[in-house]
Amino acid sequence: MSQSNPIIVVIEDDPAIRLFLRTGLGAHGFKIFEADRGQQGIIEAGVRKPDLIILDLGLPDMDGVEVINSIRGWSTLPIIVLSARSLEQHKINALDAGADDYLTKPFGLGELLARIRVALRHASSSPAQDDGGMFVIGDLKVDLLKRLVQVGDRDVHLTPIQYRLLALLIKNAGKVLTHQYILKEVWGPSYKDNSHYLRIYMSQLRQKLEADPTQPHYLLTESGVGYRLKV
Ligand code: CA
Repeated sequence: MSQSNPIIVVIEDDPAIRLFLRTGLGAHGFKIFEADRGQQGIIEAGVRKPDLIILDLGLPDMDGVEVINSIRGWSTLPIIVLSARSLEQHKINALDAGADDYLTKPFGLGELLARIRVALRHASSSPAQDDGGMFVIGDLKVDLLKRLVQVGDRDVHLTPIQYRLLALLIKNAGKVLTHQYILKEVWGPSYKDNSHYLRIYMSQLRQKLEADPTQPHYLLTESGVGYRLKV
Protein backbone atom coordinates (compact mmCIF):
# COMPACT_ATOMS: atom_id res chain seq x y z
CA MET A 1 0.00 0.00 0.00
CA SER A 2 1.32 3.43 -0.87
CA GLN A 3 1.32 5.24 2.47
CA SER A 4 1.61 8.77 1.08
CA ASN A 5 -1.01 8.76 -1.67
CA PRO A 6 -3.42 5.87 -1.31
CA ILE A 7 -5.19 4.98 -4.54
CA ILE A 8 -8.99 4.80 -4.58
CA VAL A 9 -11.13 3.50 -7.43
CA VAL A 10 -14.59 5.11 -7.40
CA ILE A 11 -17.34 3.14 -9.14
CA GLU A 12 -20.34 5.45 -9.36
CA ASP A 13 -22.62 6.47 -12.24
CA ASP A 14 -23.72 9.80 -10.73
CA PRO A 15 -21.34 12.50 -12.08
CA ALA A 16 -22.14 14.90 -9.22
CA ILE A 17 -21.10 12.36 -6.59
CA ARG A 18 -17.97 11.46 -8.59
CA LEU A 19 -17.06 15.15 -8.70
CA PHE A 20 -17.66 15.46 -4.94
CA LEU A 21 -15.44 12.44 -4.27
CA ARG A 22 -12.73 13.49 -6.73
CA THR A 23 -12.53 16.99 -5.23
CA GLY A 24 -12.94 16.07 -1.57
CA LEU A 25 -10.72 13.00 -1.48
CA GLY A 26 -8.22 14.57 -3.88
CA ALA A 27 -7.79 17.47 -1.45
CA HIS A 28 -6.91 14.91 1.25
CA GLY A 29 -4.13 13.35 -0.78
CA PHE A 30 -5.93 10.41 -2.30
CA LYS A 31 -5.32 9.48 -5.93
CA ILE A 32 -8.69 8.83 -7.55
CA PHE A 33 -9.59 6.71 -10.57
CA GLU A 34 -13.19 6.63 -11.73
CA ALA A 35 -15.60 4.27 -13.44
CA ASP A 36 -19.27 4.93 -14.20
CA ARG A 37 -20.16 1.29 -14.89
CA GLY A 38 -19.68 -1.88 -12.87
CA GLN A 39 -17.87 -3.74 -15.62
CA GLN A 40 -15.42 -0.89 -16.14
CA GLY A 41 -15.01 -0.62 -12.35
CA ILE A 42 -13.97 -4.25 -12.08
CA ILE A 43 -11.34 -3.65 -14.76
CA GLU A 44 -10.09 -0.45 -13.04
CA ALA A 45 -9.89 -2.38 -9.74
CA GLY A 46 -7.62 -4.91 -11.43
CA VAL A 47 -5.49 -2.44 -13.39
CA ARG A 48 -4.99 0.43 -10.91
CA LYS A 49 -4.06 -1.75 -7.92
CA PRO A 50 -6.06 0.49 -5.57
CA ASP A 51 -5.81 0.55 -1.77
CA LEU A 52 -9.59 0.89 -1.53
CA ILE A 53 -12.76 0.88 -3.63
CA ILE A 54 -15.78 3.12 -3.22
CA LEU A 55 -18.74 1.45 -4.87
CA ASP A 56 -22.25 2.68 -5.61
CA LEU A 57 -24.78 -0.15 -5.24
CA GLY A 58 -27.13 1.14 -7.94
CA LEU A 59 -25.22 0.96 -11.22
CA PRO A 60 -26.72 1.01 -14.75
CA ASP A 61 -25.14 -2.19 -16.03
CA MET A 62 -25.04 -4.47 -12.99
CA ASP A 63 -25.88 -4.67 -9.32
CA GLY A 64 -23.18 -3.43 -6.96
CA VAL A 65 -23.33 -6.75 -5.10
CA GLU A 66 -22.24 -8.51 -8.32
CA VAL A 67 -19.28 -6.13 -8.50
CA ILE A 68 -18.34 -7.09 -4.92
CA ASN A 69 -18.66 -10.80 -5.72
CA SER A 70 -16.43 -10.39 -8.75
CA ILE A 71 -13.73 -8.41 -6.91
CA ARG A 72 -13.82 -10.75 -3.90
CA GLY A 73 -12.99 -13.58 -6.32
CA TRP A 74 -9.41 -12.32 -6.45
CA SER A 75 -8.93 -9.59 -3.84
CA THR A 76 -9.56 -8.71 -0.20
CA LEU A 77 -8.99 -4.98 -0.72
CA PRO A 78 -11.38 -2.81 1.29
CA ILE A 79 -14.69 -1.89 -0.35
CA ILE A 80 -16.90 0.89 1.00
CA VAL A 81 -20.39 0.83 -0.43
CA LEU A 82 -22.54 3.88 -1.18
CA SER A 83 -26.25 3.32 -1.09
CA ALA A 84 -29.13 5.62 -1.90
CA ARG A 85 -31.40 2.83 -0.83
CA SER A 86 -33.02 2.98 2.55
CA LEU A 87 -33.71 -0.74 2.36
CA GLU A 88 -31.49 -2.37 4.96
CA GLN A 89 -31.46 -5.65 3.05
CA HIS A 90 -29.37 -4.16 0.24
CA LYS A 91 -26.72 -3.01 2.69
CA ILE A 92 -26.79 -6.38 4.43
CA ASN A 93 -26.39 -8.17 1.08
CA ALA A 94 -23.42 -5.94 0.24
CA LEU A 95 -21.78 -6.53 3.64
CA ASP A 96 -22.41 -10.27 3.47
CA ALA A 97 -20.92 -10.34 -0.05
CA GLY A 98 -17.73 -8.90 1.45
CA ALA A 99 -18.08 -5.10 1.53
CA ASP A 100 -16.23 -3.62 4.51
CA ASP A 101 -18.57 -0.75 5.25
CA TYR A 102 -21.38 1.34 3.84
CA LEU A 103 -22.58 4.92 3.78
CA THR A 104 -26.12 5.99 3.01
CA LYS A 105 -26.49 8.96 0.66
CA PRO A 106 -26.34 11.82 1.36
CA PHE A 107 -23.17 11.60 3.43
CA GLY A 108 -20.53 14.09 4.51
CA LEU A 109 -16.86 14.08 3.55
CA GLY A 110 -15.77 13.86 7.20
CA GLU A 111 -17.82 10.72 7.70
CA LEU A 112 -16.43 9.15 4.54
CA LEU A 113 -12.82 10.00 5.49
CA ALA A 114 -13.34 8.38 8.91
CA ARG A 115 -14.65 5.19 7.27
CA ILE A 116 -11.76 5.18 4.79
CA ARG A 117 -9.22 5.48 7.64
CA VAL A 118 -10.79 2.54 9.48
CA ALA A 119 -10.91 0.40 6.33
CA LEU A 120 -7.29 1.15 5.39
CA ARG A 121 -6.11 0.44 8.93
CA HIS A 122 -7.87 -2.94 8.94
CA ALA A 123 -6.38 -3.76 5.55
CA SER A 124 -2.83 -2.96 6.64
CA SER A 125 -2.85 -5.06 9.82
CA SER A 126 -2.40 -8.71 8.99
CA PRO A 127 -5.36 -10.73 10.30
CA ALA A 128 -3.08 -13.56 11.40
CA GLN A 129 -1.14 -11.27 13.67
CA ASP A 130 -2.81 -10.67 16.99
CA ASP A 131 -2.48 -7.04 18.02
CA GLY A 132 -2.06 -8.46 21.52
CA GLY A 133 -1.64 -5.69 24.02
CA MET A 134 -4.39 -3.39 25.04
CA PHE A 135 -7.47 -2.10 23.35
CA VAL A 136 -8.37 1.24 24.89
CA ILE A 137 -11.20 3.56 24.00
CA GLY A 138 -12.44 6.14 26.47
CA ASP A 139 -13.05 4.39 29.81
CA LEU A 140 -13.02 0.94 28.28
CA LYS A 141 -9.78 -1.07 28.54
CA VAL A 142 -9.42 -4.63 27.29
CA ASP A 143 -6.26 -6.68 27.69
CA LEU A 144 -6.62 -9.12 24.82
CA LEU A 145 -3.82 -11.41 26.00
CA LYS A 146 -4.99 -11.74 29.60
CA ARG A 147 -8.68 -11.36 28.69
CA LEU A 148 -9.13 -8.65 31.30
CA VAL A 149 -11.84 -6.03 30.86
CA GLN A 150 -11.99 -2.79 32.80
CA VAL A 151 -14.25 0.23 32.76
CA GLY A 152 -12.39 3.05 34.45
CA ASP A 153 -10.82 1.40 37.52
CA ARG A 154 -13.52 -1.23 37.77
CA ASP A 155 -12.81 -4.83 36.73
CA VAL A 156 -15.64 -6.24 34.63
CA HIS A 157 -16.35 -9.95 34.59
CA LEU A 158 -17.68 -11.25 31.27
CA THR A 159 -19.00 -14.71 30.48
CA PRO A 160 -17.12 -16.55 27.69
CA ILE A 161 -19.80 -15.68 25.11
CA GLN A 162 -19.91 -12.03 26.18
CA TYR A 163 -16.14 -11.88 25.88
CA ARG A 164 -16.15 -13.50 22.43
CA LEU A 165 -18.72 -10.99 21.27
CA LEU A 166 -16.68 -8.08 22.60
CA ALA A 167 -13.42 -9.48 21.18
CA LEU A 168 -15.03 -9.86 17.73
CA LEU A 169 -16.19 -6.23 17.84
CA ILE A 170 -12.72 -5.10 18.95
CA LYS A 171 -11.06 -7.09 16.17
CA ASN A 172 -13.32 -5.21 13.74
CA ALA A 173 -13.41 -1.90 15.63
CA GLY A 174 -15.05 0.83 13.58
CA LYS A 175 -16.53 -1.61 11.09
CA VAL A 176 -20.19 -2.48 10.89
CA LEU A 177 -20.83 -6.21 11.40
CA THR A 178 -24.10 -7.78 10.28
CA HIS A 179 -26.26 -9.77 12.70
CA GLN A 180 -25.66 -12.95 10.69
CA TYR A 181 -21.90 -12.47 10.64
CA ILE A 182 -21.71 -11.95 14.41
CA LEU A 183 -23.96 -14.95 15.11
CA LYS A 184 -21.85 -17.15 12.82
CA GLU A 185 -18.55 -16.02 14.37
CA VAL A 186 -19.59 -16.09 18.04
CA TRP A 187 -22.12 -18.94 18.19
CA GLY A 188 -21.41 -20.90 15.01
CA PRO A 189 -22.93 -21.34 11.51
CA SER A 190 -26.08 -23.11 12.72
CA TYR A 191 -27.04 -20.10 14.86
CA LYS A 192 -27.01 -17.49 12.14
CA ASP A 193 -30.78 -16.93 12.29
CA ASN A 194 -31.01 -16.65 16.08
CA SER A 195 -30.87 -12.85 16.23
CA HIS A 196 -32.54 -12.84 19.66
CA TYR A 197 -29.36 -14.41 21.13
CA LEU A 198 -27.42 -11.47 19.85
CA ARG A 199 -29.91 -8.91 21.14
CA ILE A 200 -29.81 -10.47 24.62
CA TYR A 201 -26.02 -10.66 24.80
CA MET A 202 -25.54 -7.19 23.36
CA SER A 203 -27.88 -5.84 26.00
CA GLN A 204 -25.89 -7.69 28.71
CA LEU A 205 -22.62 -6.29 27.39
CA ARG A 206 -24.06 -2.78 27.39
CA GLN A 207 -25.25 -3.25 30.98
CA LYS A 208 -21.69 -4.12 31.97
CA LEU A 209 -19.73 -1.67 29.81
CA GLU A 210 -21.86 1.38 29.14
CA ALA A 211 -22.47 4.21 31.61
CA ASP A 212 -26.02 4.43 30.21
CA PRO A 213 -26.98 1.18 28.41
CA THR A 214 -29.95 2.90 26.73
CA GLN A 215 -27.62 5.52 25.18
CA PRO A 216 -24.63 3.35 24.25
CA HIS A 217 -21.37 5.16 23.71
CA TYR A 218 -19.22 2.23 22.52
CA LEU A 219 -21.53 -0.55 21.34
CA LEU A 220 -23.48 1.18 18.58
CA THR A 221 -26.56 -0.17 16.82
CA GLU A 222 -26.64 0.05 13.02
CA SER A 223 -30.39 0.02 12.65
CA GLY A 224 -31.67 -3.09 10.88
CA VAL A 225 -28.14 -4.11 9.83
CA GLY A 226 -25.95 -4.95 12.82
CA TYR A 227 -23.54 -3.43 15.31
CA ARG A 228 -20.37 -1.36 15.28
CA LEU A 229 -17.81 -0.72 18.01
CA LYS A 230 -17.03 2.96 18.04
CA VAL A 231 -13.41 3.97 17.49
CA1 CA B 1 -26.26 5.05 -8.92
